[in-house]
Amino acid sequence: MTETVRQHLDTFLASSGLRRTKQRDVIIEAAFGTPDHFNADELHEMTRRIDRSISRATVYRTLNLLVNCGLLREVDLGRDQTYYDPNFLDKPEHNHLICTDCDRVVEFEDEHIAVLEDCITRRLGFTPASKSIRIVAKCDELERTGQCRFQNAKHKSPGTR
Ligand SMILES: [Zn+2]
Ligand SMILES: [Zn+2]
Repeated sequence: MTETVRQHLDTFLASSGLRRTKQRDVIIEAAFGTPDHFNADELHEMTRRIDRSISRATVYRTLNLLVNCGLLREVDLGRDQTYYDPNFLDKPEHNHLICTDCDRVVEFEDEHIAVLEDCITRRLGFTPASKSIRIVAKCDELERTGQCRFQNAKHKSPGTR
């Protein structure tokens, strides 16, 4: 886990009167050891590779904690389950493009989006608070070549294995 995550977390735990625990540390290590977006079950699976005794309930509790202290963000990827995003600390303004062919999630940032959203929101008589853009797209590589190098890594929902 990066120093930023560690510091942010320690401050939050101290102010909430919570202690660091070994299991919590393992879960946080797993959550921030990947640039991928994950759901609770996937995170549970990742943590169990490190410590088999970690329960689903502990994973859920820690996820809530990380969301509450602003380290993780819940993202709607248009799937059945809630996904969690560890990348907002580094890229606070990023948005997501989701490929319907290979299920790849691509993050993007663009300064024009903020300006445009600001204009639209104010024109409608509001003040912008938060925003997220989700683009659903088709894979050019698959269309062009009949194959996509990401297709084999296609996202599997838990239970389909
Ligand atoms: Zn993201
Ligand atoms: Zn693709």
